Amino acid sequence: MPDTSPQSAIETLRADFRARLSAASTDRDLKILDDEFLSRKSGSVTALLKQITAVPADQRREFGALVNTLKTDIETALTEARAALTASRPPAGAVDVTLPGREITIGRIHPLMRVRQQVEDIFMRMGYEILEGPEVEDDYHNFEALNMPPDHPARDMQDTLYLAAPIVGGTWGAHRRAIPDAQVRAATLLRTHTSAMQIRYMKTTPPPVRILVPGRVYRRDNLDLSHTPMFQQCEGLVVGEGITLADLKGTFEAMLQQLFGDVKVRLRPSFFPYTEPSAEVDISCQSCGGTGCGTCKHTGWLEILGSGMVHPAVFEAVGYDPEKVTGFAFGIGMERVAMLKYGVDDIRLFYENDLRFLEQFPL
Ligand SMILES: [Zn+2]
Repeated sequence: MPDTSPQSAIETLRADFRARLSAASTDRDLKILDDEFLSRKSGSVTALLKQITAVPADQRREFGALVNTLKTDIETALTEARAALTASRPPAGAVDVTLPGREITIGRIHPLMRVRQQVEDIFMRMGYEILEGPEVEDDYHNFEALNMPPDHPARDMQDTLYLAAPIVGGTWGAHRRAIPDAQVRAATLLRTHTSAMQIRYMKTTPPPVRILVPGRVYRRDNLDLSHTPMFQQCEGLVVGEGITLADLKGTFEAMLQQLFGDVKVRLRPSFFPYTEPSAEVDISCQSCGGTGCGTCKHTGWLEILGSGMVHPAVFEAVGYDPEKVTGFAFGIGMERVAMLKYGVDDIRLFYENDLRFLEQFPL
């Protein structure tokens, strides 16, 4: 027969509380226990006290004392449990050193910037000065002084992006300081090449000249596999007494072999208004070693840059004496170099900034 005495009910409740308390691990668990056992309206201990009328009169005093002891014990146990929980918690602002660290993503140098740095390094070792210039240019520096007067047919070779309205002064930004006021004219176009800076430099600096001008240039081209309306160029200029075509070829051999490894270099006659004679420079195809393949369109050669001996008319425009000095100029496209160097067959990839593409290049 089960023990149904009031004392037994008290001990059952005590045991029940102990079991529940040992399973409690949060403030919320303790609050639930508090409510369940001690709530004035529905707590189990309160309910037990209400049963006092059912207890024989001679046992009521003892029963009341036992229930009160139980109530005090539960209160004390809950207070201690709360204190223990608080003590086990880390102080405010503490760092949990067991948490996994945050992943650090490391940026990469864009392939075009990497190629530009390599080209700049090569020319700096050869004693060239690196210059930048304004991207919005005036007609005089972009065309006229480079032997392309307004009606010159060669202007059609470079489909130009013109501004909706000329910009007069004050728009040259960081380059303003490098350009004397006398050289600032109303800008009417986005530069089609960085050669404009060659004119600005020669107008303010006597020969000898050895400069490299890297930067963005703009043409009215539609976006396709091999064209973008904005691309990156490095143009160079060397002027001095006794500079010959042999210097031009020697410079490109040294530069292209540092850039591409063991390649052969050849010159092919070409035409640019600002150079005479003009030459396209080719390197032997690395994919097939010169025997012919898809990359080189089965010629064994890859066109890499345009160049030539500076036209006397350009020297006259800047006040140099063409009887005394000669020089050569060249322009090399960074996209072209990067495409050949890294085997990229779509120029648009350089400007889409898709991380799946960019992350393939070394850090
Ligand atoms: Zn080939």
